[in-house]
Amino acid sequence: MSENNLLDVKDLVVEIPTRRGLLQPVNGVSFSIAAGEIVGVVGESGAGKSITGAALIGLLDKPARIGSGTVHLNGKLISSLSEAQLRTVRGRQIGTVFQDPLTSLDPLMSVGNQLAETAMAHLEISRSDARKKALQALIDVGIPAAKTRLDAYPHEFSGGMRQRVVIALALIGEPDLIIADEPTTALDVSVQAQVLMLLKRLCRERNTGVMLITHDMGVIAETTDRVVVLYAGRVAEIGNTKEVITASNHPYTKGLVGATPNPSNTDDENVRLNQIPGSMPGLLSLPTGCPFNPRCNEVMEVCKTTLPVLTPYKQSTIACHLASHHASHLPSEKTS
Ligand code: SF4
Repeated sequence: MSENNLLDVKDLVVEIPTRRGLLQPVNGVSFSIAAGEIVGVVGESGAGKSITGAALIGLLDKPARIGSGTVHLNGKLISSLSEAQLRTVRGRQIGTVFQDPLTSLDPLMSVGNQLAETAMAHLEISRSDARKKALQALIDVGIPAAKTRLDAYPHEFSGGMRQRVVIALALIGEPDLIIADEPTTALDVSVQAQVLMLLKRLCRERNTGVMLITHDMGVIAETTDRVVVLYAGRVAEIGNTKEVITASNHPYTKGLVGATPNPSNTDDENVRLNQIPGSMPGLLSLPTGCPFNPRCNEVMEVCKTTLPVLTPYKQSTIACHLASHHASHLPSEKTS
């Protein structure tokens, strides 16, 4: 574990006991986030992204549970804390932004009161200071006429403005880390970009780390510093976002990138996007060897029998036999 990391996730396994056996929707996931860094976690539905985020903050739906592995926040082990202890970590040290703002906001309380209550709960400040902080929080996230909007209720805001309020709520406790799970998926594309830029700017200014969970490679490209690509509960590729997107190494990452419209291409209607054939395997029907092998256009015999391990390869780290295959096919150095 690096001392510079804000968050360190090591070999995280989430398991769900069922009558048909133990399912592992997250299986040995490791990654880290530094202060002020935005790390994207991307993959199709069923990749294990949201359940990883939920495991970090103790919000797994029963009977799912952490089977093994560790989660450290600021060097402190948080994966073995009790529910009551984790409640103090949530909000104060980790803020959350979910896809549907209405799940985070109380429809019966004005947004000003929700912000002020949250500030008082986490920062030990007076009600009048909390009210001032609530006003500043609404100004910071760009709510127009913030003073008069303090007493408005969530349903009186548009979808984009509501998500801004949720970001204000996540940040008001001055957390070290924000976990944002598909924070803009329900918004119009133009509003989506504004909300993402807002989240990015505020977290940069406050040196807050962000784990941004999304299925959208476009969002990853625009917003994140590093990216963790998940497939069937395992890390497929991890690396610097720019390098992973411009020169993907794992066939699954290449597929995700190829299926994403390029915003710089103004003639998108005439550009055919690639599709990854097939779909994510169910947890009860995982193939042997590499879990991506039935869909992979670079599959080799070894892929059908042997699970690849994460290996540094070019500019990133991939769980793919191509890494060792290419290494073993490099021309040997000539000796004179
Ligand atoms: Fe494809 Fe084989 Fe790499 Fe899996 S290990 S992604 S099947 S090449």
